[in-house]
Amino acid sequence: MQKEGKALKRLTRNGDRLMSDFSKNKNIFIFDHPLIQHKITCLRDRSTGTAEFRKLINEITMLMGYEALKDLAVEDAEVETPIEKCSSPRLKGKKQAIVPILRAGLGMTDGLLSLLPTAKVGHIGMYRDEETHKPHSYYCKLPKAIEKRIIIVTDPMLATGGSAIDAINFIKERGGKKIKFMCIIAAPEGLKALAKAHPDIQIYVGHLDRQLNKDAYICPGLGDAGDRIFGTK
Ligand code: URA
Repeated sequence: MQKEGKALKRLTRNGDRLMSDFSKNKNIFIFDHPLIQHKITCLRDRSTGTAEFRKLINEITMLMGYEALKDLAVEDAEVETPIEKCSSPRLKGKKQAIVPILRAGLGMTDGLLSLLPTAKVGHIGMYRDEETHKPHSYYCKLPKAIEKRIIIVTDPMLATGGSAIDAINFIKERGGKKIKFMCIIAAPEGLKALAKAHPDIQIYVGHLDRQLNKDAYICPGLGDAGDRIFGTK
């Protein structure tokens, strides 16, 4: 609980310096849209209940997805309007693959599916050893012809980066090439590690937080995203 007179803890370490370090990397996109920031503040609030939390994750993912998908390829298609025939752009190529990292990444699937209703959905199961904080995989099922698809990997919290790095390694080993990673909150440690391990992917971050704590939770963060999405705590 905030004590009166005590400065609020910073959201981001070293103010904007860190942000500007990352902004030099053309594959990292850190959002500053007021709607996204407002909704993330509501997510952080410990009094936000499960139903509201899920709804917010959904809305934030849609808002971020709108921007993250702006480079999807289009081709002209002929369409007949009630007035006349015309040529108009539509999405081109194989259906996209949304790949949530289980389990918290699942919370972002619906938001993306409302933008890309025909996308395929793969799953990667990772869990974090509570002592070593190292990620382990227990499940991986990806759509066919993964090499031809735009792949959007989701996990709301990019903490150490370990799960995201490993999940993207799996996807690449299975042929995945065009990969985007979306998270709602990132720690600088995780963002740096992911960008270093996979410099070819695009990384979309709703908010860059200050740091990890000794238990590898993001500060100030929002607590355990999986527990808050699924109401398990
Ligand atoms: N995973 C979470 O859900 N929260 C954190 O703060 C870090 C990892």
